[in-house]
Amino acid sequence: MNVCVGQFRLFLYMAGTATACTAAVLFLCGKLLEPGLRLYLPLAEPWIMAAGSICIAGLGCLYGLLWLCTYADWFRGHTIQFFLRSYLRVLFPLVRMQGTLMGKKTAVCDAYIYFMNHLVLRRHLQFQPRRVLLLAPHCLQWDKCPHKITRNIANCHQCGQCPIGDILSMTQAMGIPFAVATGGTLARQIVKDTRPEIVVAIACERDLISGMEDIAPMPVLGLLNERPNGPCFNTGVDLTALRNLLQMITGENYECT
Ligand code: SF4
Repeated sequence: MNVCVGQFRLFLYMAGTATACTAAVLFLCGKLLEPGLRLYLPLAEPWIMAAGSICIAGLGCLYGLLWLCTYADWFRGHTIQFFLRSYLRVLFPLVRMQGTLMGKKTAVCDAYIYFMNHLVLRRHLQFQPRRVLLLAPHCLQWDKCPHKITRNIANCHQCGQCPIGDILSMTQAMGIPFAVATGGTLARQIVKDTRPEIVVAIACERDLISGMEDIAPMPVLGLLNERPNGPCFNTGVDLTALRNLLQMITGENYECT
């Protein structure tokens, strides 16, 4: 899966708008409070105004950092990644709110997931297959399947009725651990038990975004599921995109699997 800029440009632009709006609100609050502060807290007023100015400048710097991390290869240090993650954690709810107001909530969430994938892929990380964990949602399983695969994925008989069988044969050939989770709690438990170095997760926008936040700073690559029958029911996944993603992070070529 190659993430191109066009897929997450919407997120970058809306992040800029959210940052500018927050800075404008801070500036206006400062202007409104300034006369009162000068009257009642004359000693503290310059310090409070200076702190406000630093916050506004800091927001501008963080947005600049977002662009640098998007395009500059040398912005990969742990401290920078920490600042970026903290900024995104605060910024994303504002961006999503904007998206909701504009009727583009799903597009914004998709763009955010592509952006997060881009940040991981830009680091050109490579992992041994056994250090990767592939997590899939339970809704990928055919709803009439009698086999209990959440406890043990080997219970899947690979009958071809749903993508689980194909994913299982792919991951077995690659030597990549694969698990199916019924929800966020089980997914977190699986990550805790298997202790991977990177997680590749298939899910809907909401679960992917919350999962990415939950297991940070561990890198996560998200692949959106396909929902031809509506949410959470007999969903699908692009197997070629999944294979490409797994090949990219393991550095192996599994074309013949
Ligand atoms: S592929 Fe596996 S999980 Fe899917 S329906 Fe067949 S046995 Fe069940």
